[in-house]
Amino acid sequence: MRLVTWLLPALLVGCATPPTLRTPTMNPAAPAPTFDPTLVVPIVKWPATEPRPLSAAAFDGGGGSAAAVPGDLSAVLRQVATPWTAEDGDIAPLIARLHATLLSSGGVGIAAPQIGVGKRVFLVKHGTRRHVSQPAGVPPYIVAYVNPQVIYASPEQQEDYEACLSVTGIGGRLPRALHLRLRYLAPDALQGPPREVEAHDWDARIFQHELDHIDGHLYIDHLATLSRTPLSIEEMRLHRDAGHRERGLVAP
Ligand SMILES: [Zn+2]
Repeated sequence: MRLVTWLLPALLVGCATPPTLRTPTMNPAAPAPTFDPTLVVPIVKWPATEPRPLSAAAFDGGGGSAAAVPGDLSAVLRQVATPWTAEDGDIAPLIARLHATLLSSGGVGIAAPQIGVGKRVFLVKHGTRRHVSQPAGVPPYIVAYVNPQVIYASPEQQEDYEACLSVTGIGGRLPRALHLRLRYLAPDALQGPPREVEAHDWDARIFQHELDHIDGHLYIDHLATLSRTPLSIEEMRLHRDAGHRERGLVAP
C-alpha cells in the first residue's frame, strides 16, 4: 500500500502550536468516572460569532428533517454545498473561521455548512486516535480540504460511534467504509494540481462524516435508515472509547 499521504498535510493550520486535546476539570469529590476523561473532548465553546448548533430535538426525532428549525443554518446544513471557485475570492477568512470554531468546540472535524457557508470545504483534526500507520507521538494536527472527491471507498466497512457538533447531546453507531482515498485542493494551492490523501478507520470515518455535511446529509440520517435510536452523548462515548481501546486506537 502506498505511503499514507495524510501524514504529509498540505496545510498545517496553526502548525506552530498544534492543537491538544482538552481535558475537562474533574471534581475530586465526585465518584470516579467510568470513562477515561483524557479521551473526552466536550464541546468547550462554540464561537458566539457563528450560527448556533442545533439540538437533537430540532431534527424531528433524529429523522433528519430540519423543517421546524428556524434560521438559515438548518437550511444550509441540508443543501448540497457548491465547489469553491475563483469567483468566491479569498478562502483564508473561511478557513480561519472553521479553524477557530473547530478548536473552540473540541471537535475532530468541521465543514463549512456547519457555520452557515454552503461551500465544499472542511477541516479535519488528524491524530486524535492512533493508527498502525501513524508513528507514536505525532500530535493532533488540522488539515483543510477544498472540493474533496472520493476516489476510493473500500467495500469493507466498520461499525463505530460518532456524534456531530451541529446536533448536540446525542451520538450513535453506524457503518462507514474502513478505507478511503480523497482527491482535494489545498487552500494555499487552489489552482492545483489536486492532492490525494488516504485514511483508515477513525480518520476515514471523520472524512465520511464531513463529506456527508457538504452533501447536505447528517449522521442521524444513517441512524434513521438503520432504525437505530440515538444514544446520549455520554453513552456514545463509553461505547466508542471501549471499542477504540480494543482496537488499539487509544491506550488501554
Ligand atoms: Zn457533523
